[in-house]
Amino acid sequence: MKRLILLFFLGLTPFVYAQQKKVLLIGIDGLQFEQISKANTPNFDTFTIKRGYNGGIFKTKSQQVTSSGPSWVTILTGVWTDTHKITSNSASQVSAAKSIFRYIKEGNPKLTTASFSTWKNINLLLYKDIYKVNFSTQGGNDKISTEATVNHIKTVGPDFTFIHLDDIDHAGHAYGFGDKYKKAILKVDNQIGQLLQVVQQREKEFNEDWLVMLVTDHGRDKKGLHHGNQTVHEKTIFIGINKKGNALFNSVDNNKKMNSIKELESNSVPQTAVVPTILSYLSIPIKKEWKLDAKALVD
Ligand SMILES: [Zn+2]
Repeated sequence: MKRLILLFFLGLTPFVYAQQKKVLLIGIDGLQFEQISKANTPNFDTFTIKRGYNGGIFKTKSQQVTSSGPSWVTILTGVWTDTHKITSNSASQVSAAKSIFRYIKEGNPKLTTASFSTWKNINLLLYKDIYKVNFSTQGGNDKISTEATVNHIKTVGPDFTFIHLDDIDHAGHAYGFGDKYKKAILKVDNQIGQLLQVVQQREKEFNEDWLVMLVTDHGRDKKGLHHGNQTVHEKTIFIGINKKGNALFNSVDNNKKMNSIKELESNSVPQTAVVPTILSYLSIPIKKEWKLDAKALVD
């Protein structure tokens, strides 16, 4: 109250301060889109989630294996393998494309970034950009990553935060779809809840407006065990947002049955849309020469 009175006294109104926009990207490894609705997920359910695709455009130079390395680099660079040049999970490669971390720093040097990657290779594949990130950790496990992210958002509140969670992919590789996979989804739902809580706390406490996004890197085969190939199931991913998406985002009909890869690629959002969506939300103008492979999902 004191602050309001002071502002009026100075001839200002509190409304002169625009809300600070911030972004949290929650990356969930190996979560099959169709499996989310099979579990009781109160926190996933607070998002609008649309079907997406990964693996580049089938039978073109952008086609890439539906593995974690190329997919996470696509999520964080906004381009497919023909531009970022990552072709496997091997950490001896380095992305040839700029990442969201660099676009944010170059677009607005005042903004701060953070990366918490349970699978360390994500930060290694992007190491040319990661050393410029304000705060980063890699390795450990999902519990450690979640606690570190919650604590960092609470105390620092970077303008862009990325967290990668790995347990659902491990459950898939070990057991396929079923009870243990579902249990891993419930655990991640709870971790999403912890992250949402700290974001909402900041929104109440400070004048901030957070875009929170969910994304997975790849789908899985029909049994849920493996991935890497070009099949509808393995190419199916999802993108979730806690805001009203634009027409492009909302045009996706999740109930439509996908009978071919071609149908999937023309009736869902591309994995490359994550970077332009974040940049657009943070009001960083997207340059044509960056040759990003998709358009933003928010206006
Ligand atoms: Zn995997």
